[in-house]
Amino acid sequence: MAKGEDDDGGAQEMLDDFINGRKTDSIAFAGENGAYAASAALPERPAANKQCTLCARQISPSDIRQTSNMPLCRLCYVERYLPKCRKCAKPIEGGAVTSSDGKIVGKYHRDCFLCFECAAPFPDGDFYVYDGKPFCQLHYHTLNGSLCANAGCGKPIEGSCVSLVGEENGGGGRYHPPCFNCSTCHSPLLEHHFVVDRLPYCEAHAVRRRAQKAGTASEREERAKKRQTIITKR
Ligand SMILES: [Zn+2]
Ligand SMILES: [Zn+2]
Ligand SMILES: [Zn+2]
Ligand SMILES: [Zn+2]
Ligand SMILES: [Zn+2]
Repeated sequence: MAKGEDDDGGAQEMLDDFINGRKTDSIAFAGENGAYAASAALPERPAANKQCTLCARQISPSDIRQTSNMPLCRLCYVERYLPKCRKCAKPIEGGAVTSSDGKIVGKYHRDCFLCFECAAPFPDGDFYVYDGKPFCQLHYHTLNGSLCANAGCGKPIEGSCVSLVGEENGGGGRYHPPCFNCSTCHSPLLEHHFVVDRLPYCEAHAVRRRAQKAGTASEREERAKKRQTIITKR
């Protein structure tokens, strides 16, 4: 092999190794004449263009991704090896967002990490997690069933709560304690209440609501039940 060809082989070797992500300094430098000792022992390499192992496309040098001796085109590499965004299902190149406490399941593009329901951003970095996904306050509480059932309020409940959830509690919603009022006269019901049609009433208005309704004896008795108001602290 002529001296000039040997030099080219060394340069090509370096280029290939650079593309493939191997360390170029693993090639022994023979001496001051510029010849690489390793290049003489290796067979000559084909041109830098390679074929993708998966899709058989010809890959230009800048698009080659090497994975355990399989040359892949950039698209196949991205498709097979990069994590997929849980919102848009596309692969994530570069920074992925998830939660440090592991409550968020999977990873997100930075631009996809928004309320899963309404796509509102989280400008101060605070978000709510429901079913492993990020939500804004409103949609978290909507899914969680923790918006105040008082028709004039409807806001999220994050502290103390009065709950009519469950048939044994009247089958209604949850309330801020100050919102837990008679549905007719709006007087506070912080000690006792009655439930008619899943809504809370004072005794007088529960009687009036009951009188407006027909029903079996057991239904009338259930509506007449005086219930203790329990404020749950969270
Ligand atoms: Zn490919
Ligand atoms: Zn995405
Ligand atoms: Zn939202
Ligand atoms: Zn309320
Ligand atoms: Zn009342």
